[in-house]
Amino acid sequence: MAISKIVVDRNLCIGAASCVVVADKVFELDAENKAVFKVKGGSKSLGPVVKTDLEDSSTDDETILLAAKSCPTKAVFIYDENGKQIYP
Ligand code: SF4
Repeated sequence: MAISKIVVDRNLCIGAASCVVVADKVFELDAENKAVFKVKGGSKSLGPVVKTDLEDSSTDDETILLAAKSCPTKAVFIYDENGKQIYP
C-alpha cells in the first residue's frame, strides 16, 4: 500500500494533537486548534492534501498511518493511489 491522499475531518478533530506529536513534519494545529497540513512553500492546507505536496514529502507512510491511528476521534482519513480508503 502507498499513501496518496490525506484528509482531516475538521468536524471530528478535537485538537488532541496526537497526530502532531507522531508526525510533526506533516501536521500542526491552526488557530482553531484543528489539524492542518504543512505543505510545500511553507504554507498550511486544510486538505485534502496529496502526499507529494507535503512540505516534507519524505515522511514515510508508516509514520503517517501511525499518526492517523493515534487520533482519538479517527479524524484523519488516508487514501491510496487508487482512491481506496486505507484508514480508518
Ligand atoms: S490527533 Fe485527531 S483530533 Fe487530534 S489534532 Fe490530530 S486530527 Fe485532530
